[in-house]
Amino acid sequence: MDVLQKQDKEIFEAISGEVRRQTETLELIASENFASRAVMEACGSVMTNKYAEGYPGKRYYGGCEFVDVAENLARERAKKLFGCEYVNVQPHSGSSANMGVLFAVLKPGDKIMGLDLSHGGHLTHGSKVNFSGQFFDAHTYGVDRATGCIDMNKIEEMALQVRPKLIICGASAYSQGFDFKAFREVADKAGAFLMADIAHPAGLIASGLLNDPIPHCHFVTTTTHKTLRGPRGGMIMMGQDFENPLGITVKTKKGVRTKMMSEVIDAEIMPGIQGGPLMHIIAAKGVAFGEALQPEFHDYAVQVRKNAAVMADKFIGLDYHIVSGGTKNHLMLIDLRNKDVTGKVAENLLHEAGITVNKNMVPFDDKSPFVTSGIRIGTPAMTTRGMSESHAEAIVGFIDRVISAANGDQSEKVCAEVREDVKAMCGALPLNDFGPTP
Ligand code: PLP
Repeated sequence: MDVLQKQDKEIFEAISGEVRRQTETLELIASENFASRAVMEACGSVMTNKYAEGYPGKRYYGGCEFVDVAENLARERAKKLFGCEYVNVQPHSGSSANMGVLFAVLKPGDKIMGLDLSHGGHLTHGSKVNFSGQFFDAHTYGVDRATGCIDMNKIEEMALQVRPKLIICGASAYSQGFDFKAFREVADKAGAFLMADIAHPAGLIASGLLNDPIPHCHFVTTTTHKTLRGPRGGMIMMGQDFENPLGITVKTKKGVRTKMMSEVIDAEIMPGIQGGPLMHIIAAKGVAFGEALQPEFHDYAVQVRKNAAVMADKFIGLDYHIVSGGTKNHLMLIDLRNKDVTGKVAENLLHEAGITVNKNMVPFDDKSPFVTSGIRIGTPAMTTRGMSESHAEAIVGFIDRVISAANGDQSEKVCAEVREDVKAMCGALPLNDFGPTP
């Protein structure tokens, strides 16, 4: 970054600080990962300079011959990775992918059903502070109070009562799998479209480690930067394309025909809600999908899950309450109420100790989203760093030391000691191919 250093010291210093932070501290935020250097080179490439509104072969700008190659490669690799017939790799983010589907199939005021934000859902699944809860009549479902798990009988009961036009399954803080087949049966009974948002577990699903939504859902959306380990972005998929049942038609030379759903989604992304695609990011998505198709990525995904399972078991052994009783994926949500520590305090103390997590509401939380009763922990980034089960166990020990000391006068000292241990652990495992370009 010599040129940046000379030209703009302030931004250079900020980036250098972030490099140090990522290198020396433990990243346990469930939605974060370290993209490879190849992915970052594509992100930082000249494709950022190119306008390419439209889709490969049908652009509104000239000079798109090379960006077309990149977008076609990203599309073909994504289709192979997830086994789907249709993909749109242009959404700038997971939120834009969800907005694309919702705006494509719903009218303002239509009913939707999604997992409540405070029970592990995402803002875009019907939260009142988000477009999904403001433009649409959102009815949110929760997890069962006793088990912390989604109860399909309750979902069916609610769907038949509400009669939503779209049901969303998927979550940001739910450590069990989703029964997409059962969700589809409910959606069919209620006359609803079904959308799975696999932003979090996409890499595990692509690796065949969790239930596959593609055969069961009308639409599948994802981010590309969490377990999938690509650049920050979004994507929409359909297992099979189908004629849209919404009455959306197009005039052709031969007359009027009903649009395929793929055409409806494509048109909603551009020109509906976006303009020019981020071609450098699309190129980087292509690189990441290429990486995810390699056998090493499967090994990585297996290790992500093993590390999470080991951590959850160890936490339970130390009397921590994991919502839903354990984890089948890459994350866990810990309810800290029995430890007399809020999520906010835990997040701050762990930060002092060089461990990054996020405070998180737990189901039926009595605290505000700014305080919360829980923390969410995930293993995608630590696993990219090369950490395995022994590290996972040691990390639980670090976290327990910090939380156990939280309310005593030794707290500051314990955080400082753990920080040294974290630094030593991270120092022994440099980021190599996933770190900053030397
Ligand atoms: N969907 C789910 C389930 C998520 O967890 C997230 C982000 O955390 C998103 C969508 C939104 O992704 P983005 O932050 O890229 O808009």
